[in-house]
Amino acid sequence: MITVEKALGIILSNLPERKIEQVPFQASLGRVLAEDLTATCDIPPFDRSAMDGYAVAASDAEHAPVELEIAGEIRAGGGLPQTLPPGKAMSIMTGAPVPRPADAVQVVEECRLSEDGRRVTINKPVHAGDNIAPRGSEATSGEVVLRAGHRIGPAEIAVMATFGYSRVRVWKVPEIAVFATGDELVEVDQTPRPDQIRNSNAYCIIAQLQYMGLRSEYLGIVRDDKDELRQRMLEGLRKDVLIISGGVSMGEYDYVKDIFEELGLEILFSRVAIKPGKPTVFARKGDTLVFGLPGNPISALVTFECFVRPALGNLCGMAQSELHRMKGELLEDMEQNSGRMAFFPAWVYWEEGGLKVDPLPWKSSADIIGFAGANATYIFPRGKPRMRKGETVEVMLLPDFFLRQR
Ligand code: AMP
Ligand code: MG
Repeated sequence: MITVEKALGIILSNLPERKIEQVPFQASLGRVLAEDLTATCDIPPFDRSAMDGYAVAASDAEHAPVELEIAGEIRAGGGLPQTLPPGKAMSIMTGAPVPRPADAVQVVEECRLSEDGRRVTINKPVHAGDNIAPRGSEATSGEVVLRAGHRIGPAEIAVMATFGYSRVRVWKVPEIAVFATGDELVEVDQTPRPDQIRNSNAYCIIAQLQYMGLRSEYLGIVRDDKDELRQRMLEGLRKDVLIISGGVSMGEYDYVKDIFEELGLEILFSRVAIKPGKPTVFARKGDTLVFGLPGNPISALVTFECFVRPALGNLCGMAQSELHRMKGELLEDMEQNSGRMAFFPAWVYWEEGGLKVDPLPWKSSADIIGFAGANATYIFPRGKPRMRKGETVEVMLLPDFFLRQR
């Protein structure tokens, strides 16, 4: 049995080479940029008025209030303006180019128009540069505006649009297949016989992938039957990553590892000192990564977050693909004597400037109902059988931590 850290190390050192693809910029949301993007023009491209008001030479408005003749109007997108005649003002809109040699804009709220609309009184002095964003003040042509390795969010999409990048190069996301094993499983729309249960793991895994922005192909439920397993596994091995739930423990009908061996997969680990999730298997065949997650629903969920997520995140180019960890105050005495590093459900919240960790009641690694509603797991270090109320404990924040409400 290897430690969680060792298992993660094995995963990260067995990842295939990452690939790059070009996608329409809007499809790059949530992906990781694989190239530096440079400014294709100055932004702003001209000295831009930041306010609706009057463009003036600041020296003409030094002794405000002062009345100036209006020499014209400049609107955004209305062409580049004529020059500003000496001693006059021009009405200007936000986003419009400032006429030369004006060097300030006074906001409309500080100005009063004459009855005939031909003159304006500037009520307050302005200083050179006021309310003007000079050409190139946000970016100069050729400068790197987005770096490779940057995760793309809405603001990055806006930057791409600003500079005309309609297609961008990002790290390719892996193609993923998911299936669940177990003779006892039926689908969500079926009524289980008295000895059956509905398959929940495959849907949990697919949802976890969706939270990572990843799509997957669901290959259904596979019986605990070697032929069926072999055939479905061959199908899954055509993808970059195959995630299997169940059939990796010590039971008579846990055939998954047997078929891995039969199909020539290299099993890189098959037991980890983690609770829940001890029988987790990681294997590879060529460039395809295969995860065999234990069938107990919390085990499958936790081992996905601890092992599958970092692998996939890394393949997608993310620099930090593990879930965030923080430290907080444990609100109850807790015990566990598995000797393994344990991840148990908790509700974590801020109070009086500190993070509080409220353990959730749950019955076993099968109890996904008890786990639902957790926004984090708290972590028992390996070999530590008990933790006391008030002790500082490490928590792993679940992916939607900041969105969850109680
Ligand atoms: P296994 O890892 O196949 O030995 O399964 C361990 C436990 O998890 C058993 O109680 C199974 O019935 C249950 N289980 C296995 N697969 C699933 C699944 N896809 N959804 C819900 N429970 C499952
Ligand atoms: Mg099973």
